[in-house]
Amino acid sequence: MLLQRTLSKSDFQLARSCALKLHWRENGLPDNRAFNPYLQLLADGGYMVEALARAMYAGGTMLESSGNATADAARTLELLREDNITLYQATFLAGRRLVRTDIIEKRGNIVRLIEVKAKSFDGAEHASSLQSGGAGVFRSKVKGNAILSPWIPKFEDLTYQVLVIERALPGVTVQPFLLLVDKSKRSALDNLPSLFALVRHEHADGSTRLLSADFLGSDDELQKLDLLTEVDASAEVASLRETVDTAATLFETQLDAPFATLTPPLGPHCGDCEFRTEPIAESGFAQCWGTLAAVAPHALGLFRVSSVSDTDGTSIVTALAREGKASLFDIPEARLSKKDGSVGPVAERQLRQLRHSRAGTTWVSATLRDKLQGLTYPMHFIDFEVSRLALPYHAKMRPYGQVAFQWSCHTVDALGATPRHTEWLNIEHAWPNMAFWQSLRAVIGDSDCVLTWSPYEQGRMNELKTEHEHFMDRDATLIEWVDGLKGRIFDLHNCAVNDFYHPGMGGRTSVKVVLDALWKSDDAMRDQYATWTDASVSVSSLVDPYHALPALEIAGVVQDVREGTGAMRAYEAMMYGVEKTDVEAKAKWRSLLLQYCKLDTLSMVLIFEHWRRTYTQRYPEE
Ligand code: SF4
Repeated sequence: MLLQRTLSKSDFQLARSCALKLHWRENGLPDNRAFNPYLQLLADGGYMVEALARAMYAGGTMLESSGNATADAARTLELLREDNITLYQATFLAGRRLVRTDIIEKRGNIVRLIEVKAKSFDGAEHASSLQSGGAGVFRSKVKGNAILSPWIPKFEDLTYQVLVIERALPGVTVQPFLLLVDKSKRSALDNLPSLFALVRHEHADGSTRLLSADFLGSDDELQKLDLLTEVDASAEVASLRETVDTAATLFETQLDAPFATLTPPLGPHCGDCEFRTEPIAESGFAQCWGTLAAVAPHALGLFRVSSVSDTDGTSIVTALAREGKASLFDIPEARLSKKDGSVGPVAERQLRQLRHSRAGTTWVSATLRDKLQGLTYPMHFIDFEVSRLALPYHAKMRPYGQVAFQWSCHTVDALGATPRHTEWLNIEHAWPNMAFWQSLRAVIGDSDCVLTWSPYEQGRMNELKTEHEHFMDRDATLIEWVDGLKGRIFDLHNCAVNDFYHPGMGGRTSVKVVLDALWKSDDAMRDQYATWTDASVSVSSLVDPYHALPALEIAGVVQDVREGTGAMRAYEAMMYGVEKTDVEAKAKWRSLLLQYCKLDTLSMVLIFEHWRRTYTQRYPEE
């Protein structure tokens, strides 16, 4: 019999987050995660981890998918007649349940199932916990030792595979293991990407997707790349068997179910549903929400909407939807207060959004003037770009360790002065973090005022402070400088949350959102931008500078960098990609990176200046 639809392990995971998502996937509706650059970057790292894992469990047979699951499963069973065999990407089919396993090792009647995950854990802490009688790092320390929520999907995935293999291979004993990236280990090799052969597929829109990776290193290099740790997951799988089996049985019955028989569980989680795609009318989101999908402004756009409940504890979004409502303005203000009538800082921001969106007015706090006037010139507006990969670029780094590869700074020397721009971008193959810091220090000094748009920059310097001793002798100057940074960093994002509101911001507060909201209506901002730049980029009120950033054609593909993940991908392409020896292509990647990071810090100055103009008009000095 030809199976129309099967429940793969990724289908199972998707359905666990929302059963309707499985329905939309089965019916081929567009999914915005397929083009999510951050998820793509993670997927790329995952391919390299899998290639390293196959090198660790060497000598296996790779089973490429033929596109016919039934034939692939039959081939797997045929090979498993052997007593001793290792298979990569083996296919198992049991009823409508389908899994492709990363690695299995069959030794007689025992099948070791090894699921490779690019997720990191602390292997040393886990081992230490188990040795001292604890439950390990995947479980709560309180009574019952429940599996911690971030790990549940990983163990459920493994449990689903165990259940399918047991049905497909009656009589065998399946021993489940996770093979995880171990952040308590450090790489002993430099230039790690050169040890992998990457095969990429290019889409028509110019984006690329990694199709496969192979480890090319020697046995010696494999030993030095000891970054993965195998974890026995038998106890976790045993505890999840019943839950997973029950859920899988339900999802199997829903594979062919018509939409009319399903009830969308509408709630705040719908805000970032992968089936909320454009054009909205053709999306799964639109079908789940019906006429409420197009309501604007939508209740889902409220700042931290998941924190708001109805009187019975139901999420306010769910409660409104039951009444046939979904407008931001349908949210009762009373629901934003605590039981004692007080209003916390999150609710204050929510109330501001409701009131000023309804009135179409901007709001500025009476204290913003004091906050900004308390800052002293020169002021340095800074932004960092940092990359993290499961398998790190440089020797002595831990998995997902930071590579600080770029900073941008706009310095304003005095009130009304034109901002001066400085920048740094790594092009060397050595670990760059100390050069990053030294070049930054040369610009922002030891005592000047530093402005950022989040705690991110402080966090990155704190990490450098603690990590640098793995690479070199302790640098007391660095430690002292980073400690001193705490007292001189001013986070503008706090002002975007607590001291300012523009209806164009809605529930969002990123520098790009705030700039976009102000750009359309602030002639003075556009004039400043034109004056401070060479105005080679359009300054139309309709297109803000982020959207106007020019793309470049590199090796025949149009590329752009408009957000942080794009910057990470561009850096990876410039330093380690197929064009790494192409001087012209490298120069173009460099140009894209520089123009993007420069705009982030220039935007911060433009917003700072807008705020100064606004409070001066609203609260003229007496
Ligand atoms: S819109 Fe909501 S109910 Fe519909 S698939 Fe997405 S998350 Fe599920």
